[in-house]
Amino acid sequence: MSTETAPRKPLVAQLPAMVMSLIGLALTAAALWRLPEASWGERIWLVAYLAMFAIRLPYTRKTRSNEIEADKSDPADRAALMAVFLTMMILPLVHLGSPFLTVANFALPTWATVVGVLLLPGFLWLFWRSHADLGRNWSPGLELREGHTLVTAGVYARMRHPMYTAIWLFAIAQPLLIHNWVSGLLVVPAFAALYFLRVPKEEAMVRERFGSAYDEYAARTGRIWPSRLT
Ligand code: SAH
Repeated sequence: MSTETAPRKPLVAQLPAMVMSLIGLALTAAALWRLPEASWGERIWLVAYLAMFAIRLPYTRKTRSNEIEADKSDPADRAALMAVFLTMMILPLVHLGSPFLTVANFALPTWATVVGVLLLPGFLWLFWRSHADLGRNWSPGLELREGHTLVTAGVYARMRHPMYTAIWLFAIAQPLLIHNWVSGLLVVPAFAALYFLRVPKEEAMVRERFGSAYDEYAARTGRIWPSRLT
């Protein structure tokens, strides 16, 4: 169904998402409560984290009524997505909102934190533009939407995975801002696992749908780094 009036999921089916949202809100409240104890790098990380949600929210709403037509998610992809969710969304908030993870802190020089901060504008801009350009074709998983179109314009004109480029920037910034093995650094191997597992499958899925149009697109673009203008 492509209309805006797609039926809402029954309440029971909405429960897991509601529980996750409540946990997220409680953890964010705890992080804000303990903000005076956070380092300046951690505070800046929290601002970028909240901005990431603000950017994604309207697109999550927009795609809600656009049904999934093909789902190629498999257990490995789902496990990697869960690992990213845990290391990027949950553990940093647990660290900021409680003293439990302080034992796993490490020390970094100030310039490293500054590098982390410098990565954030690029992350936020690319995260926003890739959502705007992908529009109703966006999915958190390996999915094709009803009426899926091949996006080759905007930030997709020169690279095929600008959203993943954006998330790489945030993942690399995280340990530079949150100096902790668990809540800072673990996101790097978690996102690496998701990225390397997913990209070949995602490209195969989109190629299967769009055929030679995708081959031509892939030939003139880079994966996560923009191709040169010719
Ligand atoms: N890998 C892209 C998109 C991430 S969202 C990026 O990093 O920017 C994931 C979904 O986007 C996939 O399930 C796939 O259906 C869709 N997708 C990926 N590339 C696309 C493209 N060029 N046009 C339309 N949809 C695309």
